[in-house]
Amino acid sequence: MLKGIGASDGIGIGRVLIIAEQSLEYTPKEVTDVDAELARFHDAVDKFCDNTMEQADAIRQSTGDKEAEILEGHIAIIRDPFMGGEIENLIKANQCAEAAVDQICKMFIDMFSATGDDLTMQRAADVRDIRDGIIGILLGVQEVKISDAPAGTVLVVKELTPSMTAGIKKENIVGIVTETGSQTSHSAILARALEIPAVLSVEGAVTGLSTDELVIVDGSKGDVLTAPNQEQIDTYTAKREAFLRERRELESFRGRTTAGADGKEYELFCNIGTPKDATKAMEADGEGVGLFRTEFLFMDRDRLPTEDEQFDAYKQASLILKGKPLIIRTLDIGGDKEIPYLGLAKEENPFMGFRAIRYCLKNRDMFKSQLKAILRASAFGDIRIMFPLITAVEELREGKALVEEAKADLKASGIAFDENIQVGVMTETAASGVIADLLAKEADFFSIGTNDLTGYTMAADRGNSDVSYLYSPLQPSVLRMIKRIIECGTKEGISVGMCGEAAASPMMIPLLISFGLTEFSVSAPSVLKVRKNISKWTKAEADAIADKVMAMTTEAEITAYLESVI
Ligand code: PEP
Ligand code: MG
Repeated sequence: MLKGIGASDGIGIGRVLIIAEQSLEYTPKEVTDVDAELARFHDAVDKFCDNTMEQADAIRQSTGDKEAEILEGHIAIIRDPFMGGEIENLIKANQCAEAAVDQICKMFIDMFSATGDDLTMQRAADVRDIRDGIIGILLGVQEVKISDAPAGTVLVVKELTPSMTAGIKKENIVGIVTETGSQTSHSAILARALEIPAVLSVEGAVTGLSTDELVIVDGSKGDVLTAPNQEQIDTYTAKREAFLRERRELESFRGRTTAGADGKEYELFCNIGTPKDATKAMEADGEGVGLFRTEFLFMDRDRLPTEDEQFDAYKQASLILKGKPLIIRTLDIGGDKEIPYLGLAKEENPFMGFRAIRYCLKNRDMFKSQLKAILRASAFGDIRIMFPLITAVEELREGKALVEEAKADLKASGIAFDENIQVGVMTETAASGVIADLLAKEADFFSIGTNDLTGYTMAADRGNSDVSYLYSPLQPSVLRMIKRIIECGTKEGISVGMCGEAAASPMMIPLLISFGLTEFSVSAPSVLKVRKNISKWTKAEADAIADKVMAMTTEAEITAYLESVI
């Protein structure tokens, strides 16, 4: 079995077609007729753009606008006057067109590759695709026709370029295996858009596999099974059918309101980590964002982001959501989330240390700049502020006072913001659960962070395998904590959501319905599954289950019972 990154879910069983790389070798030569060489280069660019436009049209028909735009982006890159100008300069200095294109593209590829940033590195793959396309045209190399691949083909390539994807006929290609690429690479995006199971970054796939051999591609797990026996073929055929059945069923929940079997409606939001994720949330049919983790803006860099940089990011996410709610959590650093340039002292016990709201309240300038950025963005959508790791009422009061200061500063400068912006509490510590009655009187909403709430209630670190058996939101103590938070919030008339992983758990959902949760915030791929799971229960059925569960004494008993009713 070969292992890689599962980048597009599903199972494909078929015969391998290896797409070997075409030789793009050329002998660099000095040109004397510069004008003729420039014309040769321009003709090649024109032809490349025509081909790309055709491919983009084909992709638009088969897949969608967004995927076509990836290819259209190639035209924009090569038509960019700077890049084209640099290539022309080399030709004017008597280099042949192949060498000029190669050299300038290489410069861009090196530059983009060096950033270490996934998205920018993706641009390097785009430029590589452009370089190969244009040099191929200059050399008169024939392109491999993926569109001729027969039904039941598993495509195996070193790198799946967007231009290759254009040739894919969805009905014929049952799987994709590549040697490069990640979850976020264009190959992955395109494979997912085409709904073709894909395993990327499989080392030695092109040399290790041979055309016509039978393989099974498990795009959910990232496995490629070679020489499968009949038993494996039968097992995976059944898995494939079950997967397709579930996909069809889940798709029937797209575009529907989230409601229980009795028609009671709920809000179903997504958790995101970057503004771009807001697009994924919308594509997944999320009804808003219940948790925007803002740490990404502060990590992977060597200085604090400015207020403007933050404003741009929050505004971008908000505009993508087109008026749907966006709950922005203020900086949650410390503990397992380190930011080297802040120079935080090493702590004996970082999870109980100087982190999240505690750090922010002691670094007021930095905190205020984040609050101002959020407030400025609130002029562009339904934005709400959420404080992490609250353990005492004073922290909420101090945070709210700083929000008021930030508002006053903006008002003095004549900058627009939402005067009535809601300020909520992420209830994720045992303390916040115990004083939920007090917090509910001063917070505009609660969102339960079960990832931390479970750890802090059980005093158990999920990462520590010796105590991880204690780490379960189905522990009686954690369930009592969750129930209490929801009831305290409901009593004060504020909305209570959940943004921890437990919100997507099928066993947890009837309990949350019974306790009175009104908003679920989950990862984008879970949205339709959670909508389906919520639709199974009436409030009365959920109450009957919760009554039984809350009378039980151990996590094992609760889990066994919930498994039996689900
Ligand atoms: C949580 O603690 O439940 C949560 C959602 O926040 P994070 O996972 O970012 O700590
Ligand atoms: Mg947390």
